[in-house]
Amino acid sequence: MANNKEDYLLVTWEFIETIGRVSEKDIARRLKISAPTASEYVSKLVDDGLLVKRGRDVNFTSRGYRKVMPMVREHRIVEVFAYKFLEIPWEDSHSSVMELEHLFHGDKGEKLFKNIGRPETCPHGNPVNPSERKKEVSASLAEPGKYTLNRVSFEDRKLLREMSSVSAFPGASVELLNDGDVTVETANGELILDPFTSYALKLIKV
Ligand SMILES: [Zn+2]
Repeated sequence: MANNKEDYLLVTWEFIETIGRVSEKDIARRLKISAPTASEYVSKLVDDGLLVKRGRDVNFTSRGYRKVMPMVREHRIVEVFAYKFLEIPWEDSHSSVMELEHLFHGDKGEKLFKNIGRPETCPHGNPVNPSERKKEVSASLAEPGKYTLNRVSFEDRKLLREMSSVSAFPGASVELLNDGDVTVETANGELILDPFTSYALKLIKV
């Protein structure tokens, strides 16, 4: 898959939303490209005034932030379309729309949104209005106890597949255990989270 600038911006968003920071190395790994390629693209986006670099960290400028918000929205709308109407599996709907979403900018995206019933979230629970915030807590920071799984902010295929295998979908009742590892127990099994992905699971206390 050829990456374009939009993919870089979306991945940057995904990391910052999940762990609050991102480096060129993270971007390279997520997009499965070499570090020099990632570095070259990030530099282009810095020249465009969309990203800034501080040491190893990459972040949005306010212009970059304004540019990525509608892209995140389009991505989530097209995911709903892929999942519900094209019957693409839950764990594949993120990666499958990385190509498709570029066709649904602006007006087309809003028409799709209207005609698929104005979904509030993507299939992974992430709000179609990206600035919407619920009272949620990352699994990494939550006390052990009973929760509703609200969303998974890092839409990595391997993680999504593991979640799907124990029916850890948005809205599922889960119990968070903390026995050294962060473990999420669902009605169908349990998921042991590594330190990174335990940030990606956002829970709501019941
Ligand atoms: Zn999603």
